[in-house]
Amino acid sequence: MSKTCSLCQRKAALSSDFCETHKIAESNVKAGYKEWARAFDGDISMKNYLECIINLPETGEKAKEVARHLLKK
Ligand SMILES: [Zn+2]
Repeated sequence: MSKTCSLCQRKAALSSDFCETHKIAESNVKAGYKEWARAFDGDISMKNYLECIINLPETGEKAKEVARHLLKK
């Protein structure tokens, strides 16, 4: 039985909880955190970052879904 994405009904990508689309969104979200951490001199937690991007109008829908999912962990 193949796994499905944690966020939608599509098939999960190999060794991932997400489908291709959400996997790309996840890597964008994580890359974004590195940039924010640099901008804030490391003074921002992943949780704070995720809460911030969820409220930003420029954050894409897929990225927000991933961010909400990561916050739940
Ligand atoms: Zn998905």
